[in-house]
Amino acid sequence: MTTEVAHAPAENPWDNAIEQLDAVAGKMRIDPGMRDVLRHCKREFTVNFPVKMDDGSTRVFTGYRVHHNEARGPVKGGLRYSLNVSIDEVRALSMWMTWKCAVAGLPFGGAKGGVIVDPATLSVHELERLTRRFAAEISIIIGPDEDVPAPDMGTDAQVMAWFMDTYSMLHGHSTPASVTGKPVSIGGSSGRFEATGRGVLFVTQEACRARGVSLDGATVAVQGFGNVGSIAARLLSEAGAKVVALSDATGGIYDPDGLGDIAALLARPRERGLIPRERPGRSITNGALLELPVDILIPAALEGQIHGGNAARVQAPMIIEAANGPTTPEADRILAAKGTYVVPDIVANAGGVIVSYFEWVQDLQSFFWEEQEVNLRLERIIKRAFGEVAEIYDREHGTMREAAYMLAVGRVVEATEVRGIFP
Ligand code: NAD
Repeated sequence: MTTEVAHAPAENPWDNAIEQLDAVAGKMRIDPGMRDVLRHCKREFTVNFPVKMDDGSTRVFTGYRVHHNEARGPVKGGLRYSLNVSIDEVRALSMWMTWKCAVAGLPFGGAKGGVIVDPATLSVHELERLTRRFAAEISIIIGPDEDVPAPDMGTDAQVMAWFMDTYSMLHGHSTPASVTGKPVSIGGSSGRFEATGRGVLFVTQEACRARGVSLDGATVAVQGFGNVGSIAARLLSEAGAKVVALSDATGGIYDPDGLGDIAALLARPRERGLIPRERPGRSITNGALLELPVDILIPAALEGQIHGGNAARVQAPMIIEAANGPTTPEADRILAAKGTYVVPDIVANAGGVIVSYFEWVQDLQSFFWEEQEVNLRLERIIKRAFGEVAEIYDREHGTMREAAYMLAVGRVVEATEVRGIFP
């Protein structure tokens, strides 16, 4: 096993998010006032809050919740626990949520939140106390009609359960629709756990169809072995693709003949988000994984992984962005120049928020669907979104990211205009 610890993204994700918006706003000739509205987050909330640690000491943590835009409905977005969390990262992620919800045609605006903490260093009790205190701190801007959090890096269904319970205790009654990504036993949706990875599968199938590539036997490298990466890898291998490389925060594994049964790999004991210690294949670094000669590259970890310094060496002709913001604008230009087909994050990983939307709808109606229905509806919505983006791509001859942004930004502008500027 390599001991490489991958580095935090060097570039500022908020600068990158603004650059992506500006490029498309210029192309769409959006009015400067409207562009200014879109370039700002509507609401930014910072909390510094104490947590009692197991040894009796008190530590102060910093957390954020940012609402980028709510023109199309209540805001929606995940909560991230990571040492890399910063206000600019949360701002960028909240803006990307606005575009993602719009691309998928969901009645939501964009939000994101996070706490600066490495959850792996906390005991379960400390994690629960941190989550409950953070939930209480930001509860004044959360709610089923205003802002509905979900899991992201470093958080999971258990964290969402504590969050939902805290919100419910503060309001005196159970409010399952206050968060999504909860366990099914308390109002979570069937299929939500796998939804982002399943969406990645559907999008990869559509991308292969659009490019005339067979998924059967196609070689795939996946960076990140958490919720999204591990499930995408398993579903893609079940669909016939040959997963040849996987990685996590400590490094990666590679076997050009395929890593075998991904479901079996997932079943082996492992720490959260990490590939099992007895790994197949040979060790490679996270950087080397991105440059492998594969048919499909799937970044599913952090933002800023494909950048100006390595984009020219990326060999995969197709990139499916399962992570949020894995490709910087500079890398985008390099990839576009050499004809790499990049399916952007706001389409590729929309499966999570699509099924979160289903979960919210089911909670509000107290009427729950079977997993097959969830998966069918997910497939229909994400393939429709891909098709609408692909149509713009075919017409405009830009990149898939520009096409997705044109669709998303157009929808948010339309909603803002029809609502008008208050008062
Ligand atoms: P996770 O915490 O479950 O897993 C993250 C994985 O990335 C782990 O395998 C971890 O070891 C690895 N990792 C962490 N730091 C790394 C680094 N510096 N280099 C390489 N690998 C690293 O997180 P997740 O929920 O799978 O989220 C992964 C990405 O997908 C994030 O960009 C997230 O915003 C995005 N996303 C998640 C969801 C969701 O439903 N969970 C939905 C949409 C988008």
